[in-house]
Amino acid sequence: MTVKPKILIIEDEPNISSFMSTILASNNFTVLRASNGADGLMLASSHCPDVILLDLGLPDMDGKQIIRSVRQWSQLPIIVVSARNQEYDKVEALDLGADDYVTKPFGTSELLARVRTALRHARSSSIDSTVAQTGRFTAGPLTVDFDKRRAYIHGEDARLTQNEFRIVALLARHAGRVLTYDMLLKAVWGPNGSSDNQILRVNMANIRRKIEENPGEPKFIFTEMGVGYRMVEGD
Ligand code: CA
Repeated sequence: MTVKPKILIIEDEPNISSFMSTILASNNFTVLRASNGADGLMLASSHCPDVILLDLGLPDMDGKQIIRSVRQWSQLPIIVVSARNQEYDKVEALDLGADDYVTKPFGTSELLARVRTALRHARSSSIDSTVAQTGRFTAGPLTVDFDKRRAYIHGEDARLTQNEFRIVALLARHAGRVLTYDMLLKAVWGPNGSSDNQILRVNMANIRRKIEENPGEPKFIFTEMGVGYRMVEGD
């Protein structure tokens, strides 16, 4: 079973929001909707969508604030959807880390093309080439399947929770590199989540119990004292 890409729409105009939602839902995307910035940020951090479609003119905040905020913890593609057609706004949004934009009014095929391009770009830039080809990371008996969102040890499902999998997947995508506690906390729990490393340590203890033969002497995920964690290089 393939997981449907999750698209978060942050847009206060009901007509435009439902127009986009209908198009995306009928093209096999899962859609989440927020009509203001605060709800949008909350959904972004709790659901980790694959793409955000973002209106710049929101009732409670400038959409650019959302780009700034999301970029503190995620590189997920943000497509600005705005009635504003001034170059300045678009450039500023892109400089802040937005990936693309569509200007209202736009058609069905244009919207779908932008979303698909953003998804492709996200896959090729966030995962190294070997992983992108197979959609998996392997290191000896450990397999991380990014499409199925599962990790296997000796072919058996390790039964990781959603957050445990996110941590493992993130480390696997950056295998060989140290990811700091802060990077992991922000990526998994969002900008308003805990900044207490304890929650990460508890999750890591559970992960190791599930994937390591001897959790006290890990062979896959190493602790870099005072810094973070590092996944062993893949095969
Ligand atoms: Ca608006």
